[in-house]
Amino acid sequence: MTNKKGGARTLLRQHFLDNLGRVMGSDELREVAGGITEWARRIRELRTEEGYRILTHNDLAELKPGQYVLRDPKPQPAFERGISKETRAYVLDRNGFTCQQCGAVAGEAHPYDQSRKTRLQIGHVIDKSQGGSDEPNNLRALCSVCNEGAANLTLDRPSLHKLLVQVRRATASDQKEVMLWLKSKFES
Ligand SMILES: [Zn+2]
Repeated sequence: MTNKKGGARTLLRQHFLDNLGRVMGSDELREVAGGITEWARRIRELRTEEGYRILTHNDLAELKPGQYVLRDPKPQPAFERGISKETRAYVLDRNGFTCQQCGAVAGEAHPYDQSRKTRLQIGHVIDKSQGGSDEPNNLRALCSVCNEGAANLTLDRPSLHKLLVQVRRATASDQKEVMLWLKSKFES
C-alpha cells in the first residue's frame, strides 16, 4: 500500500510541474489527486511546506477563485518563505540589487564564478534560529553563492593599497567603468 496522503501530493506536484504556466481548475486538480476531498489542502502543503509558488486568485487578479497556476518550477528556499513579495522588493531596492557580502550585482556574471549569473536572495542578518526576525531591518540581499556559504573563502576585503594597485593596472576602459560606478554610488 502506498501512503495515500504523500501519494496525492506527489501526483499534484508532478502535474503542476508538467503543466507549467497553464491555469488549472479545481475539477482537474481534484481528479489528479485521486478524487480525495483534501486535494486543496495538499496544494496548500506544496506551497507552505515545499515552497512551490502555486498562484491563486489571491496572488493574480486574472485568476478566478478555484484556479491555480505554477509558473516557476523552482521552489522558494525555506528561509524566504515567510517574507512577503513587498518586503523582498523593498530590501533588494534598499541594497541596490547588490549582494551585501561579495558585491555581486543581480543579473551580472558572478565575481567568483564567471559562468554563473548572479541571483539575489534574501538572507537574514541574525539567523532565524538565533531569534532573528523577518523584519526588513534584519534582512539583506545576498547572492546565491554567498547565501550557500560557498564564497566564504574569498570574502576578505581587499586592502586599500592592493585595491589601488589593481585599479592603476587595469585598462583605461575598466578604470572608466570603476569611475562611473563610483560616481553613481556617491553622487545621488
Ligand atoms: Zn555574494
